[in-house]
Amino acid sequence: MARLQSAALLPAPIVPFPAPQRPQPPRQPAPLPLSPPHLAGGELAALEATLASGWIAPAGPMPAAFEAAIAAATGFPDVLATASGTAALHLGYHCLGLEAGDEVWTASLTFVATIAPAVQMGARPRFLDVDRETWTLDPGLLERELARAGRRGRLPRAVVPVDLFGQSCDLDAIRAVCDRWGVPILCDSAEALGATQRGGRHAGRGARLAAFSFNGNKIITAGGGGALAAEDPKLIATARHLACQAKEPAAHYQHETTGYSYGLSSILAAIGCTQLAALEARVAARRAIFARYAEALGGLPGLSFMPEPAWGRSTRWLSVALFDPGRGAPDREAVRRALAEAGIESRPVWKPLHLQPVFRGAPHAGGTVAAELFEHGLCLPSGSALTPAQQDRIIGIIQDCGRQACGKA
Ligand SMILES: *Cc1c(COP(=O)(O)O)cnc(C)c1O
Repeated sequence: MARLQSAALLPAPIVPFPAPQRPQPPRQPAPLPLSPPHLAGGELAALEATLASGWIAPAGPMPAAFEAAIAAATGFPDVLATASGTAALHLGYHCLGLEAGDEVWTASLTFVATIAPAVQMGARPRFLDVDRETWTLDPGLLERELARAGRRGRLPRAVVPVDLFGQSCDLDAIRAVCDRWGVPILCDSAEALGATQRGGRHAGRGARLAAFSFNGNKIITAGGGGALAAEDPKLIATARHLACQAKEPAAHYQHETTGYSYGLSSILAAIGCTQLAALEARVAARRAIFARYAEALGGLPGLSFMPEPAWGRSTRWLSVALFDPGRGAPDREAVRRALAEAGIESRPVWKPLHLQPVFRGAPHAGGTVAAELFEHGLCLPSGSALTPAQQDRIIGIIQDCGRQACGKA
């Protein structure tokens, strides 16, 4: 017994290196992620130059150059580069004076980061359904809800529309309604860098503030990062102050309020600058991928794609298909599983926030459009480096699912 115990205490036997050869399974094609980063080519040189400059903290010429490039790409007069898109939203809520107990209204069909910072600040969220033609905040519904809230004197502190899957919301219509009631707009444009809205303006323009993301899955990436953009430079000055620990100008450390450490590292800003230069090419590539899916699969019964309103250009950040089994399409989950078995990542459309357990009991206004899109919608691999051969594999699997659905009917 004693001997057994001491044997158990011995270190594990050393595995000879190289490890013994196991029989290899037949070679699988490389797994296909939903929206992986796509290097532009100049990142390494930009990194080396930045490291050599010695400016590697969130200060110096690189974050400023990235901010100027984002301003040029979006048309916003002033921009702050941040550590993430969520940080940009958090600062945006501060800029609008959000306080505990205030209401914030947003589209229900979005990623949780749209509203998470507001909730963490003590705000009460209210979720509104989306429009079937844009999948973004329904301006007509917003108009009715704001009128009702205005009559009661219970207006929200902010309205937060979301530019979804690369498509701008109808910001002109939303703005007209919000202006009537004096409610400011913080637009979550995290998914829509490169998109245009009415008048050819960039997504987010016309909102008091807009937030962008350079997370690894977005159309371009800085390896993480975000940006807050505003028409009024005073708001960006406020955000900049809060993003750097709210330091007052003094030789010692002086604070009149508390802030955050939300600046973007120069190293990431250097990557971001390189990536941003490729934005138009990335938009073209994602739109071509969408067009190819739509062309190859659009004829399958019960299958349709996210619409694009005539007034704007979606980047098609993600290509999203709807599978309506009532009209003969295969079940969305069956398609997702078939793709997953082949190592291909696809994901259901965002689960509406009013259906998330964390927001149980939060008020919700409008119909069931977001819930239906969640039930039937599938985001297909959309990375700008996806090759035609890889896309053909995806298309073939979905066509097979379609044939099986037909056989069942
Ligand atoms: C990605 C995303 C964010 C958050 O951006 P991060 O940079 O990941 O913090 C916010 N809102 C939406 C809608 C997003 O898709």
